This record gives sequence, structure tokens and C-alpha cells, in this order.
Amino acid sequence: MNDGKDIIILGAGVIGVTSAYYLARAGHRVTVIDRQPGPGLETSYANGGQISASHAVPWAMPSTLPKIIKWLGRADAPLKIRLRADPALLAWCVRFLANCTSGRAAVNMERMLRIALYSRQALAEIECETAMDYQQRSCGILHIYGDPSEYKQACLQAGQLSDIGLENHPLDGFGCVHVEPALASARNRGLLVGGIHTPGDGSGDAHMFTAQLADIAAGLGVEFIYDSPIRRLIDDGGRIAGVETETEIRRGDAYVVALASYSPLLLRPLGIRLPIIPAKGYSVTLPLTADTVAPTVSLIQDEKKLVYSRLGQRLRVAGTADLTGYDLSIDDRRARMVLDAALELFPGAGNSAEPEFWAGLRPKTPDSVPVIGPTRYDNLFLNTGHGTLGWTMACGSGRFIADMISGKTPKIDMLGLGIERFK
Ligand SMILES: Cc1cc2nc3c(=O)[nH]c(=O)nc-3n(C[C@H](O)[C@H](O)[C@H](O)COP(=O)(O)OP(=O)(O)OC[C@H]3O[C@@H](n4cnc5c(N)ncnc54)[C@H](O)[C@@H]3O)c2cc1C
Repeated sequence: MNDGKDIIILGAGVIGVTSAYYLARAGHRVTVIDRQPGPGLETSYANGGQISASHAVPWAMPSTLPKIIKWLGRADAPLKIRLRADPALLAWCVRFLANCTSGRAAVNMERMLRIALYSRQALAEIECETAMDYQQRSCGILHIYGDPSEYKQACLQAGQLSDIGLENHPLDGFGCVHVEPALASARNRGLLVGGIHTPGDGSGDAHMFTAQLADIAAGLGVEFIYDSPIRRLIDDGGRIAGVETETEIRRGDAYVVALASYSPLLLRPLGIRLPIIPAKGYSVTLPLTADTVAPTVSLIQDEKKLVYSRLGQRLRVAGTADLTGYDLSIDDRRARMVLDAALELFPGAGNSAEPEFWAGLRPKTPDSVPVIGPTRYDNLFLNTGHGTLGWTMACGSGRFIADMISGKTPKIDMLGLGIERFK
């Protein structure tokens, strides 16, 4: 299309690639730059695999603070914090605390769900149009509970989500086993009292999806420049004049920052303060053998903050949140905690002799809502900060930013999704 713009996308994770796909479809000439040798090789690589609108619950809730206090100093806690004199971290914590009221939590939940449900619809359309295979499953997601009081609390939350548009069904232990028979042993051992099933959710391999969508986007004319660490955006007084990599300067009409946890580092020299911190999480992927007893329905074990997804002949389990900075090292004890919890729930699951451990940095905002939209530079846009739900929200976020850059009104309300909420 001749009236398309030259758009440069910074980052080829699931967010950058979905943005590229929708922008190319809207008739723009798109270039994607990434430091990795291919698409989806950082946070989008081995995440929990869940496409889970039912997980659109912010970390900052009234119940969060008592939990954090309970977890402090416990080696097996889902959350680990390394306190340090980092002004960005401290400012983030202050904003996080301010979001821990029931009023703020309700607002943030609606915003998260708005994008997640829109994304669900966008992903379904991509699937119809492209016939992709990313080991997807659409049998819903089942949140499970072993503690009656946690289950009761979760039912209240499920009611709140249901009031704002998410179909879900509370189930007793027997009902959970009916949905996922592999849970029978856990129920018999007293590890399961009830659950909540969200039939519209699903799962799939985010990296496979990203790689295939990047191929489709390349077929639409998108240029991918890999192995290219980005150094800076060039400020030309109110506009961005180019992006400098280690080898060249690329110029476009507009720029989209989709660098996940690294976005604030690139934006800080421009005077844009983006409250996103890295929250490290681990996943373990187990190969399945014929006689393994592994779930086929994707699960969330809320009390342990773990998610389970069946990806073809593999079981992926993911969780933990380590606020330990830009550190991707694998702490064997933390990673094994994820494996041990999975084996406790499903003793016969997978070949635990060959676990594949991985760590990724979730780009977390203090309110758990991503940052999608314009900046004070009229040709600079953000699509970042998707935290725990970047895979869930990717297609909707990509479509949203493409509409905005194309001068079309996005199909969902933009209120509360942009950086202006942090002023
Ligand atoms: C353990 C774990 C489990 C998770 N489970 C789920 C789940 O079940 N469901 C869900 O919806 N979400 C899940 N998430 C969250 C999800 O994975 C992320 O939100 C999502 O991958 C973010 O996508 P992204 O494209 O923004 O980031 P990324 O995939 O990290 O992409 C950013 C890209 O920017 C590039 N980049 C960064 N800096 C530079 C630079 N200076 N120069 C050039 N390139 C650069 C990187 O190479 C990278 O490719 C999980 C995350 C973790 C860690």
C-alpha cells in the first residue's frame, strides 16, 4: 500500500512480532530489530504457555501484603526479593503499594481483562487465517486449590471476573477431576479441595507461535534484522530521528518499543521514566513418556503460583518471582522448587531425569497492566510491560498498537493503558 509508513519495531519477542504482523497487514513497511539470532528467544521462549484471561488478576491486591510478609525469609516462597538501593526499584515499590487497595485492584483487573479478552479474539482470528500449529489446546484453564480458605477467596475473585465479562465455573474436587482426570491422585491425597474452570482459556507454545508468525510477517514484507543490539534512540527535539544499533543507524517514520524489561533502559536517556522492573521466573519442561500421568488441561496452582501446560509430548511448569534485577542465572534450588511441586501434584508426570530448566524476566509494571500507546515524542510508541501475561495479551496488544499508528480507533477503550497513568 503506498500510503503506508516506515515503522521500526524494537524487539522481536511475541509482542514485537504480533505488532509487526498487524502493522504489515495494515499496509506499512515494517522493520524489526533484535539482538538475538531469531524471534522469541528471550522472555517469550519457554514461558508457562498459558493463554489465560482468567489470570487477569494484578499482583497488587489488598491480600498481597500479608502474603509477602508471610513469605519473607522463606527459601521456598514463590516470591524472592533482593532489596537494594536502586531508586527505580524503590519508586516501583511505592507505586505497587499504592495499587494494593481494593479500588485500584478492581480498576487494574478490568484493564488487564479488557486486553486479555480482546487478545483471545485476535488470536482466534489469526488461527483461522493462518492454520498455525503451536501445540495449542483449547480445553480451558483450571485454577486448583488445596486450602479451603484460599478456594473461598478465589471464588470471590472469580465472581468479580465474571461480573466484568469472563465466563468461569467454580467446581468441587470431584468436578476438577472430571475436567482433568490426572488430578484424581492429588484429590485422593487431600491436595485438592476445589477449582475454577475458565473454558475460554487455552495454552500453546509461545516461542513456536512467535517464530511462525515472524515467518508469516516476513512473507508480508517485514524485514527482520537479528544479532543487532540496539544502543539508543536518536532524539531530534520532539521526534525520534533514528535507532542506533551496534552497526548502523536505521530511520523510520515511527518507532515501537517492545523490549520488555529492557524498555526503561532505552527510554531513560530520553527522559521517559517507565516503571517496569524485571521479575525473574523459572520454567521446567519435562518430556513425557507413554506411561506418564500428566495433565492435558492447562492448570494454575494458585497457592504455589505455578502454571502447568501440556505442549505436545512435553509438560511445562512455570512459576516463582525473583525481584533480583537483570539476572538470568538459574538458581538451582529455586528451579528445583518448581519441579518438586509438579512431581508432588503429579508423581508420575514426565521424565524427571531430564528436566529442562529455563529462566526469563517478566516485564512487570506496578499495576500489572501493560503500557501500550503514544509517548510525548509524536513518532514513538510503546508496547511493553506485559508482565505475567504477555503471551495472553500479545495479539490484542499488537493489533491495538497497529490501529493506533494507522490512525484508526482501536477496537477496545484506550483508557488506562498508556504511560500517562504514571504521571
Ligand atoms: C517463567 C515465566 C512464565 C510465564 N508464563 C506465562 C504464561 O503462561 N502466559 C502468559 O501470557 N505469559 C507468561 N509469561 C510472560 C510472558 O512470557 C512475557 O510477558 C512475554 O514473553 C513478553 O513478551 P515481549 O515480547 O514483551 O518480551 P521478549 O520476548 O523478552 O521480547 C523482547 C525482545 O527485545 C529484545 N531486546 C531487549 N533489549 C534489546 C536491545 N538492547 N537490543 C536489541 N534487542 C533487545 C530481546 O532480545 C527480546 O527478543 C511468563 C514469563 C515467565 C518469565
